[in-house]
Amino acid sequence: MHEDVVTDSERVSMAYRRTMSSGRARLAEVLGGQVEVESSGAWITTSRGEKYLNVGGYGVFVMGARHPTVVREVERQLRTHPIGTRIFLDPTAARAAELLMSVIPPGLERVHFSGSGTEAVEAAIKIARLNGRTRLVSMTGGYHGKTMGALSVTARDTFQAPFRPLLPDVTHVSFGDVLALTDTLQRHPGESCVIVEPVQGEGGVVIPPAGYLRAVQEACTRYGALLVVDEVQTGLGRLGAWWGCDTEGVTPDILLSGKALGGAVIPVAATVATPEVFKVLDRDPVLHTSTFSAAPIAMAAVCGAMLAIEEDGLIERAAALGARLLPELQRIMGALLPHHAFEVRGVGLLIGIDFADPAMAADLFMALVTNGVVANLSLNSDHVVRLTPPATMTDSEVAFLFDRFELAARSVAERNPEYEVLVDA
Ligand code: PLP
Repeated sequence: MHEDVVTDSERVSMAYRRTMSSGRARLAEVLGGQVEVESSGAWITTSRGEKYLNVGGYGVFVMGARHPTVVREVERQLRTHPIGTRIFLDPTAARAAELLMSVIPPGLERVHFSGSGTEAVEAAIKIARLNGRTRLVSMTGGYHGKTMGALSVTARDTFQAPFRPLLPDVTHVSFGDVLALTDTLQRHPGESCVIVEPVQGEGGVVIPPAGYLRAVQEACTRYGALLVVDEVQTGLGRLGAWWGCDTEGVTPDILLSGKALGGAVIPVAATVATPEVFKVLDRDPVLHTSTFSAAPIAMAAVCGAMLAIEEDGLIERAAALGARLLPELQRIMGALLPHHAFEVRGVGLLIGIDFADPAMAADLFMALVTNGVVANLSLNSDHVVRLTPPATMTDSEVAFLFDRFELAARSVAERNPEYEVLVDA
């Protein structure tokens, strides 16, 4: 047995190939074969000592990496009581739940904690069933995770097809189209559960028309459907508000949180519900459980995340930073790739660069990595490069991002001159 972690990139890659995912190892090699060993704020450091600005991380890093408040709370818990017996009650869980409830839309009062976004979705689907809603309606392009229940509502054939049959009675309707939703709901009054994101993240930063979420809620109320708003990616400041629901004054029956909820230190997610729909779980406290649900160490991370967001004013900072980033990224793209078909759009710190051609998106993503910036391609939309920067970014980090983004976009333009010919023709 090795006593220490070996950080040599070839050894790590070999270990991945032998013991984990050779596909993952191959992908990492295409991106330069780097091994990340340290993170702080908006930066990650590789075993070769190179630093990358992290504006990716699939939306986790609202407060950056290793935020001191989160680390303080987690370290304190680590030294005292990281994992509970599940026989006695845990004060850290009680504090985390109360802190979360203090910022959640009014009317949502009960929470079930889990370890990942997909588990939060599973809990929501089960609560819906206990409330008599056996039909599921999700949106095309919607992403909700990859466990079997969540995958049933993650509307992408590539991910679903190998695993069918999935849950029965699932319908996907067009995101943003209230009439299509109404049409589906009216066929089975009182039987449906609708799951929707305020802005589709993995779908490629798809922003619905203003008033959409409110109209979805009205349709759900009219036809007795239960509404689940999946804020795993959009919540906790990502959109420049605590929740996407806040921007439309919507209180769903269930709201899902994850990603930034553990302060980018411990993985945590939450299924938050109104007392009316949650009470079915009160009857039997072991009906829906998991060994690590609400583990004290994870709950300390939730407390840290809530405090960090409040103390650092991260909601306001996310809104201000988003308003600064979006126009400049639009300007750079417009100046350097004027003949290419793309759109730069975003809400708060959820920003997408959408190309007509997925190869161009892959090229920009690679060029960003080459220039020291880690972003993401969208899981349900490979033609969209997604930026989810931390709200804690400093002026010099913003300047670095603009500078490197410009270099990356310039190199994409140089590599793709034929595109201009195509578009001009
Ligand atoms: N819901 C949304 C909106 C997401 O963006 C994601 C992940 O990207 C999930 C659910 C699934 O979360 P996890 O990957 O933690 O299972």
